[in-house]
Amino acid sequence: MSNKILPADFCNRISAQIPEDAADLLAVLDTPPPVSIRINPQKLQDYAAGIPMLWHQEGYYLFERPSFTIDPLFHAGAYYVQEASSMVIVNFLETEKYEKILDLCAAPGGKSTLLATAMQQDTVLISNEVIRARAGVLSENMTKWGSPNVIVTNNDPRHFGALQSYFDLIVIDAPCSGEGMFRKDLDSRNEWSLENVAICAARQMRIVADVIPALAAGGHIIYSTCTFSAAENEELIQQVLQAFPEMELSPVVLDERWGLVSSEINGVSNSAYRCYPHKLKGEGFFVCRLQKKGVKPAKEEIFISSKNARNQQNSSKKDAKKTPFPEKEMKRFLREYAVENIEMYEDNLFYLTPQVKETLKDLARFHFIKKGILIGKIQGKDFNPAHEWALCPEVATDLPIIDLDLPQALDYLRKNDLPNDTELINGWALARYEGVNLGWIKVTPQRLKNHFPVNWRIKHL
Ligand code: SAM
Repeated sequence: MSNKILPADFCNRISAQIPEDAADLLAVLDTPPPVSIRINPQKLQDYAAGIPMLWHQEGYYLFERPSFTIDPLFHAGAYYVQEASSMVIVNFLETEKYEKILDLCAAPGGKSTLLATAMQQDTVLISNEVIRARAGVLSENMTKWGSPNVIVTNNDPRHFGALQSYFDLIVIDAPCSGEGMFRKDLDSRNEWSLENVAICAARQMRIVADVIPALAAGGHIIYSTCTFSAAENEELIQQVLQAFPEMELSPVVLDERWGLVSSEINGVSNSAYRCYPHKLKGEGFFVCRLQKKGVKPAKEEIFISSKNARNQQNSSKKDAKKTPFPEKEMKRFLREYAVENIEMYEDNLFYLTPQVKETLKDLARFHFIKKGILIGKIQGKDFNPAHEWALCPEVATDLPIIDLDLPQALDYLRKNDLPNDTELINGWALARYEGVNLGWIKVTPQRLKNHFPVNWRIKHL
């Protein structure tokens, strides 16, 4: 049975760490956590049933926790359910500086969906997760979100060392001892121990050290955890600065009214921040920004390990098959300007922007879970659009639409066919709920055939 009491060693350490605040913090950990979401501005303009968040204009608190499963907008990627404090990282971004972003520990996708929305249109996000099953969940969430300039990989942090001076921003939302989740996830209290804090700190150091070579000069690392222990936060950053003299603190000044507590590292103010749940409406969180000294070299000078470069040439010859495809049929599914970004691999058509294509070549040896957006598949003479294309904002706007009400939308998400009471008699149409695309329907005179992915269907309502 789950022991819901806060670990005694944790309480003792907090009492020594923040003596004036310890009682308030420990008390608030036994109260219900706030519920918050972040909207996808490509799909929703606002969230009328929520209270706007102070530090992220797309963040909202909800009055209570609804059943997200029975909200079609949740399945359509119109919003992401995300803990409030972690959204503060949006204020650490200098998006105009970033051509390539790596989100190193990305599953299930909270930071990656935030980055995909905040980054500039021609920036590429590599969203990586080392644990295979979690990389699948990440890919699903990125698919729902629909941003085209995203690549999902399933690699160990040390693999990124081959990409020297490649990324302009690396987000490391490190696996940690999870003290900040003690009220949201009661089981995390049982998994905690002083030994585990030390194990996490050692692992965090390895993870950061693995990717520092991949950061371009002048580039940022945003390091975050959801724990209160200094060993995994300020002390970890101090160790990094000692071991890597090419790295320096990159302070950010936040609005004091938001309630974050500024940490001083090596005497530098605003070099890091802590979110405490007794001081703001969110869970425990730590965030710090570092910068690599120097200036990013001109493009030609960026060095990718020779082994990688060789493989990259072979693989681009092997993979990209420029065979003709049923162009006319295909084009109906894309906005006019999107047509030039079609790439065909065997019978699959992908939407790959020039930046994504270039990045895929650079990362030829990586394990891809998702590359740009799959538009669809050619099967014989037919072209079948892919689910992820329905959820991408580049999908054509003049395709037939079938607007579903709530019971119909839930039936659609259960993967049931619907009776055809529309004027349409055949062809592909987009199922839509409250103006947001849910997926594809193949129309026949009697039925609306459901093409929602079988693995994603709602099994229990
Ligand atoms: N950034 C995610 C988000 O916002 O949704 C949450 C990331 S969670 C705090 C940390 C992630 O690191 C987990 O997905 C975990 O599987 C992954 N992880 C675990 N061990 C790791 C390791 N040795 N190297 C890199 N990532 C690891």
